[in-house]
Amino acid sequence: MAVARTRSVALVGVAGRTVEVEADVGNGLAGIHLIGLPDTALSEARDRVRSAMVNSNYPWPDARIIVSLFPASLPKRGSQFDLAIAVAILGAAGVVPAERIAEPFFLGELGLDGRIRAVRGVLPSVLGAAKHGDVTVVVPSANSAEAVLVPDVKVIPVADLRQLVEWLRKGDDPPRPEFEEYAEPPKTTGAPDVDLADVVGQPVARRALAVCAAGGHNLWMLGPPGTGKTMLAERLPTLLPDLELDHALEVTAIHSVAGVLPANAPMMSRPPFVSPHHTATAAAIIGGGSTVVRPGAVSLAHRGVLFMDEAPEFPRHVLDALRQPVESGRVTVSRSAGSVTFPARFMLVLAANPCPCAQAEDQTETCKCSPTIRRRYLGRLSGPLLDRIDMKVTVARSSRRELLADRQFVESSETVAERVLAARERAAKRLAGTQWRSNAEIPSSVLHADYRPSDEAMRPMTACLDTGTLTARGLDRVVRVAWTLADLADKDTPGQDETNAALSFWLGVR
Ligand SMILES: [Zn+2]
Repeated sequence: MAVARTRSVALVGVAGRTVEVEADVGNGLAGIHLIGLPDTALSEARDRVRSAMVNSNYPWPDARIIVSLFPASLPKRGSQFDLAIAVAILGAAGVVPAERIAEPFFLGELGLDGRIRAVRGVLPSVLGAAKHGDVTVVVPSANSAEAVLVPDVKVIPVADLRQLVEWLRKGDDPPRPEFEEYAEPPKTTGAPDVDLADVVGQPVARRALAVCAAGGHNLWMLGPPGTGKTMLAERLPTLLPDLELDHALEVTAIHSVAGVLPANAPMMSRPPFVSPHHTATAAAIIGGGSTVVRPGAVSLAHRGVLFMDEAPEFPRHVLDALRQPVESGRVTVSRSAGSVTFPARFMLVLAANPCPCAQAEDQTETCKCSPTIRRRYLGRLSGPLLDRIDMKVTVARSSRRELLADRQFVESSETVAERVLAARERAAKRLAGTQWRSNAEIPSSVLHADYRPSDEAMRPMTACLDTGTLTARGLDRVVRVAWTLADLADKDTPGQDETNAALSFWLGVR
């Protein structure tokens, strides 16, 4: 009777937890039993591991095999445990030295022919393994560029089971990641090749966009088709600075779990821009899935922009489900098997046409929607959601004269991005020592305790609170934007100019 142990990683949301894998090959009725595997995908692992071993010409032990995965309580889903199960059996059967497999972590799915296939979530898995200090992680070759993003981890990329067994037997000359010639892993640019200077005739919306970028605020744009709402939204990422390394790793981890990282350039160093269509499922937008819970658009937009064009067309329950992430920066996806929480701190940009026929104010077409129909259409966006939108602007068609007049004020994304960066640095300095870096992240309680503008600056809001035009939640939004306006104006604290401007941005579309 022989026992061998090794390690792998299970993902809970985007957090990697260590899983101990133990194989026991001994006397008894020949057969294999897997313990601690609740998911059907894992019982399929048994068949894949067996075929991969046999087809790689390793003898399948003619004995009773028990494989246990601990802790049993961890939800272990997916195929990434194949490799750990296979090496534990090979270790217990004496094909590879048991002491060689005890320390490394093994991640990967086995093909029936012994090939090692890429899996989702390698980055967060390796981050989870790295908590144990100096570790060695064996990953599928196709995932190696992603795995090496984690500092101080020895990554062993393997293409098939034979290559892995050779390495474990010899114990030297590990296969090396193929892209080693790069001093630094290649990065994705993410941002589309567009520029704010393309948008002429919308000075107020351009200004609002810069404020959003500087403070991380949410924006809602109302206007007929063809006024540039989508163009404006697409240019918001071009005003944002590169992600700092810790945020880049967070973003990359989420995209890794979703399985949407490009294999050759995995590091997401730019803020993502995610634009789901209104026909997308709630699971695609919020997160979900039938067997494995996957992050949705709200999490793929983490540290970036979530743009929802034709916002009133989205189902009501999807719009309502946006409230939790907008408020907390996280989204909890509940399913029968339990709930998973994903990061979801994004800048929400909503765009809407004034009516369902989308021809309002068009000079050639005539809109026949009654005021009631228009009101009902925009009413699909609930008050509680709009309360959470910091800035609301109306985007109208510009006359030829306005276009010509605006031309001289148009600035490039690069120019505006410099101002945004300076304002962001100012905010980050003020927030140094806290977990927040932008004004939008400051929680309400802290905002009122530590960042309350002077009584004089608060006066415009007090009047609106009294008349009920401003809600308590709206007040928080106004104060945050006022701070951003002060940061953009290079002022130490917001005055009445800033609070007045922030208030009219919040009231916006009425
Ligand atoms: Zn209409």
